[in-house]
Amino acid sequence: MTDWKTRTKLVHEGSRRSQYGEMAEAIFLTQGFAYESAESAEARFVKAGDDEFIYARYGNPTTRMFEERIAGLEGTEDAFATASGMAAVNGALTSMLRAGDHVVSSRALFGSCLYILEEVLTRYGVKVTFVDGADLDQWRAAVVPGTKAVFFESMSNPTLELVDIRAVSEIAHAVGALVIVDNVFATPIFSRAVEQGADVVVYSTTKHIDGQGRALGGVVCGTKDYIRKVLEPYMKHTGGSMSPFTSWIMLNGMATLDLRCRAMAESALKVARALEGDARLSRVIYPGLESHPQHALAMAQMGSGGTLVTFDIAAGKEAAFRFMNALEIAKISNNLGDAKSIATHPATTTHQRLAPEVKAQLGITPGLIRFSVGLEDADDLIADLKQALDKM
Ligand SMILES: *Cc1c(COP(=O)(O)O)cnc(C)c1O
Repeated sequence: MTDWKTRTKLVHEGSRRSQYGEMAEAIFLTQGFAYESAESAEARFVKAGDDEFIYARYGNPTTRMFEERIAGLEGTEDAFATASGMAAVNGALTSMLRAGDHVVSSRALFGSCLYILEEVLTRYGVKVTFVDGADLDQWRAAVVPGTKAVFFESMSNPTLELVDIRAVSEIAHAVGALVIVDNVFATPIFSRAVEQGADVVVYSTTKHIDGQGRALGGVVCGTKDYIRKVLEPYMKHTGGSMSPFTSWIMLNGMATLDLRCRAMAESALKVARALEGDARLSRVIYPGLESHPQHALAMAQMGSGGTLVTFDIAAGKEAAFRFMNALEIAKISNNLGDAKSIATHPATTTHQRLAPEVKAQLGITPGLIRFSVGLEDADDLIADLKQALDKM
């Protein structure tokens, strides 16, 4: 790791050049590596050096560049790149847990994260306690001596509720539990999760890191011991590694990550301000607005409100659908952090599976729209949203 500032790291950290001195990061599109001799093959299987690779499922020079770049950005000793965000979440949890272990998790989770905690881990005898992530008393009551890990999304999907990383980390560390944070909504640019106490930080790189909606990917950042001794054996033997081609896409995405996240967050604040107070909306949720109940925490934790705005169309589902269908610039889809603005109706898509009472508990109302602010001009986006509200 170097002491470069963020933008320099995003362009140069972790770069490896072949004997040709290529400028652009090379894609090593190879499953394996030839050894000089039988003896060197044996030696590499005993212990692979820093620049020695065996098989792409175990590691690859292009993937290694991406891992070093993101670890440098996040401020962790190491990172492991995975085939998707879900491979990262699953690996981060499953690699360290065994039957009988206890985990505490926030309840407001991305649907697939909920599936891993609720359905997969419990099937193998892990005990999971769910809490309201914003309620520190619930965390204090649920985390007990022997709790192995706590897991939460630092900003929840789709209602943009924050979990206080510093406070929950203190509660967890008091009993020796590992703090695993899914930090997608916060983005690596606004993340200070490690500084605030997180031990392991997980990203779906499908979102802001790619930033152009091209490839699925994920990454787990943590200490060298956790990444190489706990996570890597699990990932490399169960087949969840990132492909070299995807690593190359993510490496290229990183060069512009800071510029993109800041531009999107700046537009998101403008969009939220333009929507706030509109009588057709019963709520406008954006942590960067002073009206957000956790505005102070958002500023302390991320220094930004992030790149998503969520709002509730008071007239309900049919009106929300008319609004979405009237959008001319923003697309109806379910990714986020893309250059293209995206409107999502969580109740009927990403969170459709949840029971009505769970939706109600999580604030996923029939009129709720999650809006991922892209790189278009903010004034054009505001005009698009306003005209769609008028047509609704
Ligand atoms: C998208 C997302 C994931 C899953 O990532 P994939 O790349 O789709 O597998 C996990 N957590 C959060 C918060 C997400 O937004």
